[in-house]
Amino acid sequence: MDKRKIGVLTSGGDAPGMNAAIRCAVRVGCDLGMEIYGIERGYEGLLEGAIFPMDRNSVADILHKGGTMLGTARSERFKTEEGLDRAAEILDTFGIDALIVIGGDGSLTGARELSERGITVMGIPGTIDNDLGFTDVTVGFDTAVTTCLEAISKIRDTSSAHNRVFVIEVMGRDCGDIALYSGLAGGAETVLIPELPYDVNEICKNIIQSSNRGKQHHIIIKSEGVGISSMELAEEIERKTGRETRVVVLSYLQRGGTPTSTDRLAATLMAEKAVKLLAEGSDSKAIGMVHGEIVAFDIEEALTIKRETVKTIYDLIGVLAK
Ligand code: ATP
Repeated sequence: MDKRKIGVLTSGGDAPGMNAAIRCAVRVGCDLGMEIYGIERGYEGLLEGAIFPMDRNSVADILHKGGTMLGTARSERFKTEEGLDRAAEILDTFGIDALIVIGGDGSLTGARELSERGITVMGIPGTIDNDLGFTDVTVGFDTAVTTCLEAISKIRDTSSAHNRVFVIEVMGRDCGDIALYSGLAGGAETVLIPELPYDVNEICKNIIQSSNRGKQHHIIIKSEGVGISSMELAEEIERKTGRETRVVVLSYLQRGGTPTSTDRLAATLMAEKAVKLLAEGSDSKAIGMVHGEIVAFDIEEALTIKRETVKTIYDLIGVLAK
């Protein structure tokens, strides 16, 4: 068999640990005698033919860095029939017969579309959102939670010192996992996520009751996707409780930073699996981690698996904050 030519790209929002996945894919691929090509700026770079050969040295000194050495992008034109056909054509022109795509839900949907056009694609979940149903963890999630946790700890000091309520807005348009996990680890009093309803009166009642018990601080972690702006929520709380209420939006602070060991390990092990499957001649797969094991799913099937909100964590936060 001819040497396999494998392309690697990162797509969608950048996530810490993407570099660890690229590094492992390149080095394991080289070790197995494959030719590895980097594709810059996700599907947009693919459409532009921004494709370059990579070797072991290309990925030196990136393991500890956030972001992605390949760059990333969102590409509207790739989504069209014309764009998808063009992408398949470019891969054919470059003689690339398989692709490793590291990205979130949208990126893996794009990977599935390419797979339907005859290209073997390995999807690796790389997104801080943790919003993919087929895997327990996505690369980048643990680092984002750790960053939020650091912020919560600092804000908690001020909250106690000034007897203020804080609303901390974290990322998560449809998926509240960053809020849930950082809220549980950070001892938040209240967590608001897009998947579950909330009641402002209930929140205010809790603030008043906990204040009466002598609690100085009150931290509310709110996902950005919850249907009320953080400022509006803070104003309503201040009006109803008489407690000074401040808003902190963590925004892009959550995206970057050196990846945690958890993210580096997940990224590395998933990338190894992807390359080894390609070496075995596998068809398209989505790689995930389930109960600590690296698992490969049919890519079509993987994207139909629904995420389950961890209601038990939500309930536990409520119990611990009483
Ligand atoms: P994040 O979770 O960080 O937002 P993501 O991969 O979900 O990452 P998207 O912006 O949804 O980010 O998708 C990234 C890119 O994947 C899009 O810009 C587009 O090029 C491609 N893509 C998204 N959805 C589709 C689709 N339905 N069909 C083909 N390609 C898609």
